[in-house]
Amino acid sequence: MSVLASKRAVTPRQYEGVRVCRGEHSGVTMAIAVDRTVAGRALGGCRMWYYETAGDAIRDVERLARSMSFKAAAAGLPVGGAKAVIALERGEKPSGRRREQILRDFTELVECFDGCYVTAQDVGTSLEDMVFLSRLTDHIAGHPISEGGSGDPSPYTARGVEVGIRASVRGPLTGRHVVVVGLGHVGGALARRLRDAGARLTVTDADPTKRVLAARLGATWVAPEEALAVQADVLAPCALGGILDQAAVRALQVPVVAGGANTQLADESVAEALRGRGIVWAPDFIVNAGGLIAVADELEGFDRGRVERSIEGIADTLAQVYADAARNGANTLIAAKQLARERLIGGLNGNHT
Ligand code: NAD
Repeated sequence: MSVLASKRAVTPRQYEGVRVCRGEHSGVTMAIAVDRTVAGRALGGCRMWYYETAGDAIRDVERLARSMSFKAAAAGLPVGGAKAVIALERGEKPSGRRREQILRDFTELVECFDGCYVTAQDVGTSLEDMVFLSRLTDHIAGHPISEGGSGDPSPYTARGVEVGIRASVRGPLTGRHVVVVGLGHVGGALARRLRDAGARLTVTDADPTKRVLAARLGATWVAPEEALAVQADVLAPCALGGILDQAAVRALQVPVVAGGANTQLADESVAEALRGRGIVWAPDFIVNAGGLIAVADELEGFDRGRVERSIEGIADTLAQVYADAARNGANTLIAAKQLARERLIGGLNGNHT
């Protein structure tokens, strides 16, 4: 395997940084970013997605890895933050032998980190991929439930988002109107939970085949470009990142935004724009921590009860973020980052760098 680039963070600790390679078997560009380690370990999923350039993939992996550090810290988990991306060409849907070649190359990159990077499932990768990877590397979390692992993290993420929505609307979900953007693993599971809790749903997805699920849920379907302007109680972004920019914030007709997608804000100034419009934004790295909580728990020996209690804790963490933001006249992103830093310094999640 030829490493195309290797960049270390300006910390003395070994390996923290980014490595990029073009897979020897597949020719596919892939990158792993370790933002920080705790007790020598950093955890973060492997995203298999489309990128126009290698630079786009590297920027994304760095941003996502940083967000994982905040997520782990805010949830008080004893792991650092990392992420991996496998950069596909648009329209490519690797399967069979081609997919195996890509995953084989990916494990070589994982092995370069000598166990300080632990991989897991993310957008574009499946539990089957994790089973395949686990034959080639030990540095993986999120094994199947049948093997004593946490399994697919998405249901835990969806549960955490539901907890976060309840904490944000400060009351029951019965009769509340929620717009779910993205009916994938997380959004689909969240929509089922919200429907079961008595919420009214409007949904959308870039993939029109998801209309079948929408119909099964009794949800109203809108086109993706219309979803952000639907008048409702909650917007739950559950697709990809960057959905909230200044224009999107101006269009919003909801008092609360709380969803599972990572890196929802196009840039940090959007948090202030949301505050300016009086919209409560549940910081993504707090509200979508359920999957990470489950996968990280596997590193200690998976205990479902412990995971569920920890996911319930998302409500208290969010309540603290909202209270801190109100007290300091700050937006919720600033308050959430401050809380994560305090939890780092408080020793819940190792030493802050
Ligand atoms: P997924 O690939 O299963 O689902 C994403 C869905 O969004 C797909 O159905 C896709 O068609 C749709 N989509 C993509 N672009 C869209 C657009 N512009 N408008 C509307 N729909 C669009 O992925 P997932 O595992 O459900 O993850 C969703 C988000 O949640 C991602 O941002 C991911 O990083 C984040 N997340 C996931 C987990 C997890 O446990 N899976 C944990 C934390 C955060």
